[in-house]
Amino acid sequence: MPQHQYRAFKNTFGEFGGRYVAEVLRPPLDELEAAFIAAMNDPQYRAEFDSICTEYIGRPTPLLHARNTSREIGGAQLYIKLEGLANTGAHKINNAVGQALLAKRMGKTRIIAETGAGQHGVATAAICAKLGLECCIYMGEVDIARQKPNVFCMELYGAEVRPVSGGSRTLKDAVNEALRDWASSFANTHYLIGSALGPSPFPDMVREFQSVVGQETKAQLKAAGATPDALVACVGGGSNSIGFFSPYLESETPRLIGVEAGGRGMNTGEHAARMNGLGKTGIVQGYKSLFLLDDDGQVQATHSVSAGLDYPGIGPQLAHLGSIGRIEFTRATDTEALDALKLFARNEGVIFALESAHGGAAALKLAAELPPSATVVVNMSGRGDKDIFITAREIAPESWKRFLEQEVQTL
Ligand SMILES: *Cc1c(COP(=O)(O)O)cnc(C)c1O
Repeated sequence: MPQHQYRAFKNTFGEFGGRYVAEVLRPPLDELEAAFIAAMNDPQYRAEFDSICTEYIGRPTPLLHARNTSREIGGAQLYIKLEGLANTGAHKINNAVGQALLAKRMGKTRIIAETGAGQHGVATAAICAKLGLECCIYMGEVDIARQKPNVFCMELYGAEVRPVSGGSRTLKDAVNEALRDWASSFANTHYLIGSALGPSPFPDMVREFQSVVGQETKAQLKAAGATPDALVACVGGGSNSIGFFSPYLESETPRLIGVEAGGRGMNTGEHAARMNGLGKTGIVQGYKSLFLLDDDGQVQATHSVSAGLDYPGIGPQLAHLGSIGRIEFTRATDTEALDALKLFARNEGVIFALESAHGGAAALKLAAELPPSATVVVNMSGRGDKDIFITAREIAPESWKRFLEQEVQTL
């Protein structure tokens, strides 16, 4: 974490951000903001965070020079931050640890969280198990049905997974239920939001906890004698990207490139790309940002092969930094992400999460346009084990089908 003194946050990013919540949620958000600032200025809290990062998450995660791939494309030197080697398989654990420690310090005994694909639910359930906190995860019924392995892990960690049957029975409905719970439970409960969005102070808090990814990368590049020309990361809600980019937000270089889900292609309408003029300004679930909205202002359905990018809204700080041009946005389709995943597996011996593979695809394209003296760094926000039910279906459908049939027969 950065070593400066923390004061009150502005709570807005240009025209975006803010705290648009019902009156009843103002006191817990005020309490949280004050506790967060006090904790960040307390060396004991920071030491505790650092110690869990080392002994539990397995930090620092490695920075891999992807030499085979760099040679094959004949362009820039490509580096991969292997964030997927963190315990529980993705960057989500950094934020879960930061907030769970904060909740404990505030005297809270119960944690609630929303989850879509289940990655944030798994990270939250894991740290709650370690810290001895009661844990309740809200998850849409549709997501529970399609993300069984993650539900299994959350329950193994001792969390209660509470099915949400309202609305489209997916992530946004899970957020609504979690907010409803919190409005009546905040005396003993902390709501642990999973990405750099929601009402303030969540976007600032999540960025600070995820900044460990960017700080480590910066030090590792320096140790390798490399100066980055561009950093590339996939963008769902925006937590891995804002943390990865964080040391460079105030400077003009390197280029910072966020990669959204191009889904089945922009002409199909089945995607989750909100930047570059596609999203509209709106206020949803407590914050102002860019969202995919229909003509009536309703939140639109999105599509991505990667569950973590399949989301209609983007974190307010990214929306702002995109609008002033500090962060560039591009996108990768489902197919491009799968191709990048296969290439990195074969060339480097690492399997990207499907989300991260969108960043990988864009990094490959960019590296091919640059000379070998240039350096491009991509954040592998997660590893691909969790996606095996999806990637296997795409890559080897027949043999996978036979395997699943065998498994059912042995039940
Ligand atoms: C959740 C998730 C994402 C997307 O969320 P951000 O908040 O945008 O980082 C990306 N990669 C992985 C592996 C995830 O689990």
